[in-house]
Amino acid sequence: MKASKDTVVSFHYELHEAGGELIENSREQDQPMLVLLGHGQLIPGMEAALEGRESGEAFEVELAPEEAYGEHRDDLIQRVPKKYFPQPKHLKTGQVTSLALRSGGRQQVTVRKIGMSTVDVDINHPLAGKTLQFAIEVVEVRGATPEELAHGHAHRQPPPAATEDGEAPASA
Ligand code: ZN
Repeated sequence: MKASKDTVVSFHYELHEAGGELIENSREQDQPMLVLLGHGQLIPGMEAALEGRESGEAFEVELAPEEAYGEHRDDLIQRVPKKYFPQPKHLKTGQVTSLALRSGGRQQVTVRKIGMSTVDVDINHPLAGKTLQFAIEVVEVRGATPEELAHGHAHRQPPPAATEDGEAPASA
């Protein structure tokens, strides 16, 4: 099966900043990354790069910022009272930390300047403005279940259950 909208793709990836250091390696996790294609779960360049791929395919792709986490925007610097940080005394310039949002959830921010009672934080995604190199290995492509389509994300499948006569069903 080829990866396309409404298929579920599991894959391993290594992410490097272009010409630079390793940023992430999915093999450090127990399981590969699992996504439902065509539902905004991935950055645009990754959606496009996975399109048409099949299980076992390995490839590399380089993504400019506009296909990845966007350009770095200088207007995304905000001055936040120190009390909103979990450990304000330990803040360091350049540190990536997370802030609770009024709307719920958390946002990753980079500390730019520490004042007496406020902190200037950069709310750009830490990878904004960067060209990224991904090395990808597709593990599996399968059709999405109705439940996954309704939820707009992929679900990890339980391991195949034994059939009544005690044999595991043949895998596809
Ligand atoms: Zn769900």
